[in-house]
Amino acid sequence: MSILITGARVITMAPEQGARPISADILIEADRITAIGDIGAGRADTVIDGRGKLVMPGLVNAHMHSPEALYKGRYDNMPLELWMLYAYPILGAQTLSPRLVYLRTALCAMESLKTGTTCVTDDVYESPCQTPDQLDAVFQAYEDVGLRATVSGHVVDRPFLDTIPFARDLVPPDLCAQADAQGAADGAQWLSHCRDALARHHGRAGRLNFMVAPSAPQRCTPDLMQAAMELAQAHDTPFHTHILETRVQAVTGQEFYGETLIAYMKRLGLLRQRTTIAHSIWVTDADIDLMGEAGVSIVHNVISNQKLGAGVAPVKRMLRAGVNVALGSDGVSTSDTTRMFAVMHAAGLIHNVQTPDTDLWLSAEEVLQCATLGGARSACLGAQTGSLEPGKKADMIVLDLDAIPFTPMNDPANHLVYCETGSSVTHAIVNGEIMAEAGTCLRVNEAELLAELRAELPAFFAAHEKTEALNRQFEPWFREIHKRCHARDVGVMRLGHEPAWGRA
Ligand SMILES: [Zn+2]
Repeated sequence: MSILITGARVITMAPEQGARPISADILIEADRITAIGDIGAGRADTVIDGRGKLVMPGLVNAHMHSPEALYKGRYDNMPLELWMLYAYPILGAQTLSPRLVYLRTALCAMESLKTGTTCVTDDVYESPCQTPDQLDAVFQAYEDVGLRATVSGHVVDRPFLDTIPFARDLVPPDLCAQADAQGAADGAQWLSHCRDALARHHGRAGRLNFMVAPSAPQRCTPDLMQAAMELAQAHDTPFHTHILETRVQAVTGQEFYGETLIAYMKRLGLLRQRTTIAHSIWVTDADIDLMGEAGVSIVHNVISNQKLGAGVAPVKRMLRAGVNVALGSDGVSTSDTTRMFAVMHAAGLIHNVQTPDTDLWLSAEEVLQCATLGGARSACLGAQTGSLEPGKKADMIVLDLDAIPFTPMNDPANHLVYCETGSSVTHAIVNGEIMAEAGTCLRVNEAELLAELRAELPAFFAAHEKTEALNRQFEPWFREIHKRCHARDVGVMRLGHEPAWGRA
């Protein structure tokens, strides 16, 4: 199969070209880009008339949790530690059927594809523990809809109350006992699950991979984290984790380890190039230096971080230190959408209110870089995707320049970051195949999948309301933890976390 796009404006995001558009034809043969330039009216199985179109690399969502898709639009105005009581409940969590897992994943995949994302890192937590059938369902959904995806089995192998500072001091003993009765994942079993997943899914369909994702350094034992890193090294796959999303987590490092969580990771030998750190908000200057020296990736989840009041990651300073920066929607409950154009828009704006120092603001080109090549690198896919270059996998989107977001046309990079919503995407090409065209996913029946999902939801939410009631019991104590941690000096200040908190 071959595809020829003729006479388009092209933003390649290749390192020497950046976001400066060129006029070019693009030839795709099988799964790869074979030529970009003046190709003329060559022969191809499919020809896309690129006049009035912009072609760019497909967007990379470098941190997403598809399991939260069922809670889209459900919660508001809760910090992470309170919101988790409902989205990742301690008590009474439901175990989902593989079919519901499939539908939930397809929902995210279809929205992503139609709005210009061609590559996603999906960090998947199932309660109480991901089964092989549930993981198969996630892979099947991505294979069917047509995304490039890197999928995890997210793991927590410490009892939940041992992962939050002051929880043991504050939560009443009867509630602690109920929480402890839930147990935690068994590290050896999880590692065996990962080995099995790598054997069965890694490299599937030329576009699907498995990665290891120990939840966070305070939620996993050091033995498990180190074994996970060994596995990641052996299979050349990402080591994906969460660090310093909230001020509570900054206090966690002090309380649990007497050092920052980044320094703790460094001491365990876990800061490496294949390490991707979601969030990275409450980092100190010394943390940033360690991360830059190691060449880790971080994912800037700018919408989720605002929704949970978590803070703003010092992205420009990390870029300068040599950290690779990617963008992510984070879970669909804390972003309420997987649309990466929304994430880019927010990433382009938020730093301007964080500091009057314009050198620390992000340019539209930098935002695009993070949303494409930066994301690909964080998924250990930088040599394969994230830019349009001959020899790379053909992952790209076509946008209609005659649409309102591009009329009138001034600076194309600015339009992509500040004007476009994803609605102007006419084609999404992944691995050399047109997977979506004119707002329709071509390989699945969206209406049927959505109808099937809707039919499952009344039973799911009836049970979930009971789960919410059970976990609401923890709220007063978790509110107290949130307040206590915000009274603590953690050595860094972030927007919205001024010392006058609570005295408005
Ligand atoms: Zn996350």
